[in-house]
Amino acid sequence: MSDHLFYQSRQTRPFIDRAEGIYLWDVDGQRYLDGSSGAMVSNIGHSHPHVLSCMAEQMQKATFAYRLHFQSDIVERFAKRLAQKAPAGLDKVFFVSGGSEAVETAIKLARQATIARGEPDRFKIISRTPSYHGSTLGAVAVTGTPPFADPFAPMMREMPKVRAPLHYLDGLDMDDPTTGAHYVQQMEEKILAEGPESVLAVLVEPIGGASTGALVPPAGYMEGLRALCDKYGLLLIYDEVMTGGGRTGTYFAADHFGATPDMIISAKGLGGGYVPLGAVISRNDLVEDVLDHGGFLHGFTNAAMPLAAAAGMGVLDVVEDEQLCARASRIGGMVYNRLRDLQSQYPFIGDVRGKGLLLAFELMADATTKQVLPKELNAHAKLVNIAYDNGLIIYSRRTRNGAEGDHFMVCPPLISSAAQVDELMGLLEKSLAQFADLYLKEVA
Ligand code: PMP
Repeated sequence: MSDHLFYQSRQTRPFIDRAEGIYLWDVDGQRYLDGSSGAMVSNIGHSHPHVLSCMAEQMQKATFAYRLHFQSDIVERFAKRLAQKAPAGLDKVFFVSGGSEAVETAIKLARQATIARGEPDRFKIISRTPSYHGSTLGAVAVTGTPPFADPFAPMMREMPKVRAPLHYLDGLDMDDPTTGAHYVQQMEEKILAEGPESVLAVLVEPIGGASTGALVPPAGYMEGLRALCDKYGLLLIYDEVMTGGGRTGTYFAADHFGATPDMIISAKGLGGGYVPLGAVISRNDLVEDVLDHGGFLHGFTNAAMPLAAAAGMGVLDVVEDEQLCARASRIGGMVYNRLRDLQSQYPFIGDVRGKGLLLAFELMADATTKQVLPKELNAHAKLVNIAYDNGLIIYSRRTRNGAEGDHFMVCPPLISSAAQVDELMGLLEKSLAQFADLYLKEVA
């Protein structure tokens, strides 16, 4: 920790010097392979010349023009392109500066839309455990990770949660339609227990992010949620902060399912690490209703900055021009197979999962009984630190809800080449071998 700056803890890391493509260098010249795109942000890699030139061009014109004083052509064009990327019917965009702000925006838009429609009793957002939806109080209230919420409990109204469809832990076959139906039924029971007339929306990560470790839902689950929302008059909101921008092989993960949400929340890969950027893309009629009933009581000073839009447009150009969605599937397939190979070598890898380049593996003491590693071992931090020393950055989380174990996101930039996958996997294997050697002897 430095004298004047603080983050979550006293942990320190090297000082960054520069970054390019899938690599970062610290001030001592040590190079790191960005195996998690930061926090699944740098989808197109670092310092992409096209984005830098888009930003430079816009900087010569206007970096900021307050949205209540001026409209901006670049912001309008960016909104249009984003709406075109979203499923049909979602064509109104509200820009913000990050994921948590986007989650707040979706919650408040949903609430105002239900008031506008004459159903003011609806206010509950049902989300899942585990889940992560952000750090602001409204987002914490819907985040299904209790330690993040507990200290703030008296200050907010916690929202109802159901268990995420953790089929691999429950020993259920994700391709069997009864598995999806089983978790949908749990959601329906929750809606009924809460009283459907008080429920406003269901909020889910269509493919889980760091909280579940790239959880792909079982067959029929998302479609089942859509049917439930229609049955009880609820909105279905996808938090695509981590899955958006092409990471799972389609621009939005929504495209993998036969279930269209009413709103999509996007951030991270949207700005790609070039600017702080987030967005909510909503059904047109919800926005129209809110605007017809006194307007949206919401807005952030830095939202919809022309410079941010220029950077976001540049990122989107790269995703399209370099066909990064298809590449995420192709390269993701390679990484997935290599992780499976590692799993056959290292029995403490309990699960490998994900889609496209949103991939994760989970460490367990016993993969058959799903017994997690002892908490005191801090496996998630130890393996990350070993990898760090080897020049590889991966992202880890121990989901602190009890049953789940230590999982690690392997999510390099979508621009990664096959040779870079080899390099990444070599560093990961070396790190796993060292970790096993140092820490797993007494556990095994
Ligand atoms: N939702 C999801 C699914 C996320 O992964 C995150 C960030 N990890 C957020 C919301 C919050 O985004 P931000 O950190 O940009 O506020």
